[in-house]
Amino acid sequence: MTFAFRHRNDLDTMPASNAGSPQPLIRDRFQLSNNESPFDPLPSVRKAIADDCLPFIGRYPDFRGWDVISRLSERFGVGMDSIILGCGSSEVLRMAICSLAGPGDEVIIPWRSFEAYPALIAASGATCVKVPLTADLRHDVDAMAAAVNDRTRLIIINNPNNPTGTTVSADEAERLMQSVPGDVMVLFDEAYVQFNNDPGAADGMVLLRKYPNVIVAQTFSKAYGLAGLRVGYGIARPEVIGELGKTALAFAVTDVAQRAAVASMDAQDELDERVERVIAERNRVTVALRGQGWDVPDSGSNYLWLGLGDHTDCVAAVFRDAGIEVHVFPGGGIRISMGLPEVNDAVIAACATAKQLYDAECAAA
Ligand SMILES: *Cc1c(COP(=O)(O)O)cnc(C)c1O
Repeated sequence: MTFAFRHRNDLDTMPASNAGSPQPLIRDRFQLSNNESPFDPLPSVRKAIADDCLPFIGRYPDFRGWDVISRLSERFGVGMDSIILGCGSSEVLRMAICSLAGPGDEVIIPWRSFEAYPALIAASGATCVKVPLTADLRHDVDAMAAAVNDRTRLIIINNPNNPTGTTVSADEAERLMQSVPGDVMVLFDEAYVQFNNDPGAADGMVLLRKYPNVIVAQTFSKAYGLAGLRVGYGIARPEVIGELGKTALAFAVTDVAQRAAVASMDAQDELDERVERVIAERNRVTVALRGQGWDVPDSGSNYLWLGLGDHTDCVAAVFRDAGIEVHVFPGGGIRISMGLPEVNDAVIAACATAKQLYDAECAAA
């Protein structure tokens, strides 16, 4: 007999978290489903962890992470009270959602977008309002602005958008900010900002200087290659940061994460060079896939999107057979993270095979 206990009934529609069986953790070069950095950790980051952290693992970390905050404060030209760290920027998103919205409130997101948004919003008790992307898979900022009402507490902009890679332009962001009430917060999730070399793209920090209702969230997980250490940050007006901190998990950002973040900022040139290599590969693979006849949206990130709809399974199967792990969105498409050049060559080859099957399926449908 199942055990019935008092709980939040509004969570009943969410899947239980202990479903499923243990899966092997795939960490080889062909793991392209999580948008991670394909490179080995920087030697200087490894050394900082070994020398500065290992002796102190019996101690709690610095509560706020002041060393990281002070470095970010110089970098972005904002006060230290304008920055909050999180256990990944996922934690910053969670704080923003939980501090700003609860039962009866609404949070507006683009859709399709980051899968964590609906789950985090559900956890807060607020209502998730999904505004569909445009036909070319970009944010529909006008529809998002039109979705605002008295219950709206937060609007999330994902720039570049995960999983489509598409970007929000500076003009679109400006139009959104102009039409949204000044007391409704707009969070720019810029997890992949370092890979976005589109000069016309919106810049959350520029918007924050102009509009007090902006929150910028960035992370060390993607371009900085620290996904396993869980550290990200939010930047906003001090009043807003103060509010976010109310729902923070104490000591969520470990000492290892903090030291690695500082060491990474010390190695900025090396990281910039890695980012350039990923961008070059992204462009190369985009051209190759388009040459095969695929419709690949321009990506400002470290992954590419193949919108496949009902034919997702047949393409996913080709990648599975090739031993390449990609992120499959059933009925939607697949997202392919950029790996090392030889791995990307394998992606291009798999896509060539998949195209024939895809075309055959489409023709039969
Ligand atoms: C990866 C990702 C994040 C944050 O990841 P963390 O590891 O928690 O910093 C946030 N938003 C989007 C859209 C992402 O893809």
